[in-house]
Amino acid sequence: MSIAMVDLKGQFAKIKPEIMEAIESCLDSTTFINGPSVKQFSTALAKYLSVSNVIPCANGTDALQVALMALDLQPGDEVILPAFTYAATAEVIGLLRLTPVMVDVDSSTFNITANLIEKAITPKTRAIVPVHLFGQCADMQPIMSLAAKHQLYVVEDTAQAIGALYTFPDGSKKMAGTIGHIGCTSFFPSKNLGCYGDGGAIYTQDTKLAEKISMICNHGQRVKYQHSCIGVNSRLDTLQAAVLNIKLNYLDEYSAARNKAAIIYDELLKDVAEIALPERSPMSSHVFHQYTIKISGNKRDELKAFLQQTGIPSMIYYPIPLQEQEAYRSLGLISGNLSVTSELCSSVLSLPMHTELSFEQQEFIASNIKSFFSK
Ligand SMILES: *Cc1c(COP(=O)(O)O)cnc(C)c1O
Repeated sequence: MSIAMVDLKGQFAKIKPEIMEAIESCLDSTTFINGPSVKQFSTALAKYLSVSNVIPCANGTDALQVALMALDLQPGDEVILPAFTYAATAEVIGLLRLTPVMVDVDSSTFNITANLIEKAITPKTRAIVPVHLFGQCADMQPIMSLAAKHQLYVVEDTAQAIGALYTFPDGSKKMAGTIGHIGCTSFFPSKNLGCYGDGGAIYTQDTKLAEKISMICNHGQRVKYQHSCIGVNSRLDTLQAAVLNIKLNYLDEYSAARNKAAIIYDELLKDVAEIALPERSPMSSHVFHQYTIKISGNKRDELKAFLQQTGIPSMIYYPIPLQEQEAYRSLGLISGNLSVTSELCSSVLSLPMHTELSFEQQEFIASNIKSFFSK
């Protein structure tokens, strides 16, 4: 049985005629930069998210960098982020000569919490970057109150959680990335809304911030050849926007397929004592960018190797905590101890998760996991 970690081929096959038509029309018109699909996509995504401004850009890392640039932070200002995340979150903070302050995460949701953030706040703190890891939102309401109390900006890294819906204690709901001052996402091919190359977007409800963000993405110019600030060149290709326009129509279907696969994994693996299944936050829906289990008894690497031998891929997100990375060891500050992050890095395993997973494939994966533990 052939199983992919992410089956982009199977997903493409189902929408190929639509995609080919959109790509051909873009090629015929040769509007490769800022063609009509770009505006069309940002409008459609803004509508989907119920957010007033979506600024498309070149990738998720640029989205984070531009978001932080728009906040006029000063070198040495502290930015709080979870230690358990992809390096890009910390990278842009360091690149802008800001100080990343790494905090631990909650071991059941893998996400940062207001309690952990509060202990890391100092007079130099200016912003918080919560990451909605693996597809569900960090508990944002307490984070937003804490930010308001200390006058901090909140920039959500929602590269893994597009489409996840957060429920506030009063019952109102908002999409991931539209709760903080700015939200940042990625359309990297394997993300839940992936294009066929690089892509990203920045969201905000604040029109002034949106103007600044657009200006920064376009070399700091509002009017052509008048540069008001130092910016970058970060655009979403028309071809990628054309692909995304089509795939956005399927995003809810994709999230539902991922949820269905997650429930099947839960059912198939629930009796394996050595495995902790991914817990759901009561405050957020889950879009299962990853289905990540925790393996007890130091057996994770052995299980991964065993699965590999039977042709089952699996991935470790993330094997090395941020605070132990050469680039961030001396750059960042550490708040408290990061023992949960260290523990997670040695015990987590992400199983194949995508929109095309079949029951037979999941049964095969689960039966191999079970036979490993009954050896
Ligand atoms: C993928 C990802 C990014 C970066 O996105 P790119 O488009 O690859 O630059 C940033 N943060 C997180 C949490 C991610 O998963």
